[in-house]
Amino acid sequence: MKHLDIKKVLRDADMVGTEAVVCGWVRTFRDSAQVAFLELADGTSFSKLQVVIDKNTLKVDPECTKLGASVAVKGTVVKAYKGDGNELNATEVALLGACPPDYPIQKKRTTLEFLRGIPHLRLRTNTFAAVFRVRSVAAQAIHRYFHERGYYYINAPLITACDCEGAGEMFRVTTQPWNSAAKSEEEYYKNDFFGVKAGLSVSGQLEGEVAATALGKIYTFGPSFRAENSNTTRHLAEFWHVEPEIAFAELPDVIEIAEEMLKYLIRAVLAECPEEMKFFDSFVEKGLIEKLNHVANSDFAICPYTEAIEILKKENARFQFPVEWGSDLQSEHEKYLTEIVYKRPVFVTDYPKEIKSFYMKQNADGKTVAATDLLVPGIGEIIGGSEREADLAKLKAAIQARGMDMASYKQYLDLRTFGTVPHGGFGLGFERFVMYCTGIENIRDVTLFPRSAKNIM
Ligand code: ATP
Ligand code: MN
Repeated sequence: MKHLDIKKVLRDADMVGTEAVVCGWVRTFRDSAQVAFLELADGTSFSKLQVVIDKNTLKVDPECTKLGASVAVKGTVVKAYKGDGNELNATEVALLGACPPDYPIQKKRTTLEFLRGIPHLRLRTNTFAAVFRVRSVAAQAIHRYFHERGYYYINAPLITACDCEGAGEMFRVTTQPWNSAAKSEEEYYKNDFFGVKAGLSVSGQLEGEVAATALGKIYTFGPSFRAENSNTTRHLAEFWHVEPEIAFAELPDVIEIAEEMLKYLIRAVLAECPEEMKFFDSFVEKGLIEKLNHVANSDFAICPYTEAIEILKKENARFQFPVEWGSDLQSEHEKYLTEIVYKRPVFVTDYPKEIKSFYMKQNADGKTVAATDLLVPGIGEIIGGSEREADLAKLKAAIQARGMDMASYKQYLDLRTFGTVPHGGFGLGFERFVMYCTGIENIRDVTLFPRSAKNIM
């Protein structure tokens, strides 16, 4: 169907005086004696196009005026009577699809929670359409950021035999019938599709290291899967993961790249989605634009874990989980640090080795590893990264100390055997970034079909 984007018809001054066809869904209908007004949305812009119907010259099928109906309108583009931009004086209005009155998306503002129950229709609301436009712009900006800096885009496998971070968070991939009788786990998996236990990847990092130690700078951007049973507003079973990995880099380099990338992404969203961001600023998080501008233009804080614990210990009375050196930071601690102490994003660095992964570079103190989590106000952890252990003997010792199976890390160890180099990288949770940019507080509301425990609509 030959038609133009509403965005173009609405905004392009050169369109004035020309004939145009647009297609879209009816958002509002106002009627008076002589004229009627249809507001149309087609997804291409936050603002809707006003269609003016002169009732003396044009009879319109009443079905075309119902909320949610889809229509094609032909008309002449004119400068808007009120406000900036253009509107369309209709000469023809054709029905594409009628919309009965039990359409669940009614005009009065419905709650995000209600809309979560109709994920297939909620994108027709201002809020969700705006979220997904921002999400798309952010995804493009991620590719642009890395491409402009000479990183290669790598696709890590999603099915893997290696549960690299352990902790039983891996979903199993199997074709075995549920009642297959086997004497041992090993025998059971021998009959399975891959002949060994397989699962969905929780991270592309290990494969990313393979690529980085040959191509230099790489990133992956794809889904990761984690069987989190926590049901928080920040965790999904399936999320999108941005994972750069850089050869010849140490922890300070990793931190610098993470900060620069985040600022680049924020600027891109502010520049490319002005209408959406104004909407979020007014209706979702007051002061959002100012917050993001500030973040994009000031330095992030850096705080070693040991210092963070000193700060937090003084406030232990306010926490549900009091801290001491060696304990993992809970969400309440992360939020306190970034929201109350620093009031801006903060990199916490050099965590105790016991609470971090085996692959992180062991610091000279023998107690900590060169890891960092970036904490941001409102969300907590948004990025987790580290310098990787490049020393073969130390890496082996870490694998052994954790009782992990050395044989399954053969390839990973080879990277340290043959021309090992200092390297590092980080993982950004893409949905958490979209939450941060839009002010949306529940990760389920920035994901098309969110998957979490007991929820796969
Ligand atoms: P958290 O402590 O918040 O559970 P994590 O330490 O398990 O996160 P990492 O393994 O460091 O997370 O993963 C890197 C990034 O991926 C995190 O900083 C976060 O932004 C994102 N992420 C991790 N798990 C999830 C999840 N279940 N849903 C959405 N994003 C996630
Ligand atoms: Mn982490």
